[in-house]
Amino acid sequence: MGNKWELQDRKNKVIKICPCGKGAYVSIRSEYEDDYLRARTRTDNKIDCIECETKYMFYNKCWVTKENYEIIREKETTLDDFEKQVYRKLYNEYYDLVLDGLKTKKGLYDFLYSNRLFNMPGTLQTFYKNGAEYYIDDGSRHYCNLHDLYKLIDLNVGLSKEDNQLINDINEKKNAIKVFLVNVAV
Ligand SMILES: [Zn+2]
Repeated sequence: MGNKWELQDRKNKVIKICPCGKGAYVSIRSEYEDDYLRARTRTDNKIDCIECETKYMFYNKCWVTKENYEIIREKETTLDDFEKQVYRKLYNEYYDLVLDGLKTKKGLYDFLYSNRLFNMPGTLQTFYKNGAEYYIDDGSRHYCNLHDLYKLIDLNVGLSKEDNQLINDINEKKNAIKVFLVNVAV
């Protein structure tokens, strides 16, 4: 007989009551155990209301209509693309300057490590082994850490007024999306 994972326990936790009041957005935690008494847990979140699940989405702790959810997602996608563009621009214009200023690979590592940038908790040895490009994306990967790139540049060589303005624009757009969400939240 094969190994079987059997459900031992299931708990529903209400995260927020739904707009109609008859259900909620819930977090369902299921605990399983197998024939060797190994444990495994799984958490699923869902809208537990037949009426509301057709009309609403639960997003960033808010209830929004599906139409408004689409608008928010579109705004976020546009902003995301803009952030990537800015990331590439800053990387191309400043990264070599930053490297020149820090002089050596070790200098770069020490700076990243002491400022906790680009997830730098590793050792100098692993940093040498992986190479700086493993941590600092040149802008071609899916996820760009603009915040950390900005810090790296700002603390070393500084940004031009125009480029600082780009960062401000991004922050303003982020806030605008938050305000929109709060305003349309049901
Ligand atoms: Zn409901």
